[in-house]
Amino acid sequence: MSDCLFCKIIDSKIPSTKVYEDGNVIGFKDLHPQALVHVLFVHKRHTRDINEISKNDPVQLTDLFHAIRLFTEKSGAEEHGFRVVTNMGKNAGQTVFHTHLHVLAGESLGHFGA
Ligand code: AMP
Ligand code: ZN
Repeated sequence: MSDCLFCKIIDSKIPSTKVYEDGNVIGFKDLHPQALVHVLFVHKRHTRDINEISKNDPVQLTDLFHAIRLFTEKSGAEEHGFRVVTNMGKNAGQTVFHTHLHVLAGESLGHFGA
C-alpha cells in the first residue's frame, strides 16, 4: 500500500535498522524502544491488523512466527525469554495499520500489564 509507513520501510523508501529478513518477513528496530531489544516483525504482504491477517491469509502468521523463532534463536533472546505483543484497533492503541508483532527482549520485562 503506497501510503503505509511499514510498506515504505519494506520497500526501503524510509530508512530502518533491519535485524532480520527472509523472503516473506522483515524485522526492524522500533524507533521508540520499550525494552533493550524491541523489534517489529512485519509480513511483506500488507494487511491491516491481526484479525485481517488471520481472515485473509493465515499462513502469514506462520511466516511471522517462523521469523521470530529464527531471530530469537540467533540473537540469544530465546535462552533468556522474550515477549510478543500485537495491538489491534483503538482500545489497544494501534498506531500503524500494517500488522506487526512487537518482540521485546534483552532484559527482565516485569509482569505483563504492570
Ligand atoms: P503500534 O502502536 O502497536 O501500532 O506500534 C507501532 C510502533 O511503530 C510503535 O512502537 C512506534 O514506535 C513504531 N514506529 C513508528 N514509526 C517507526 C519507524 N519509522 N521506524 C521504526 N518504528 C516505528
Ligand atoms: Zn503496509
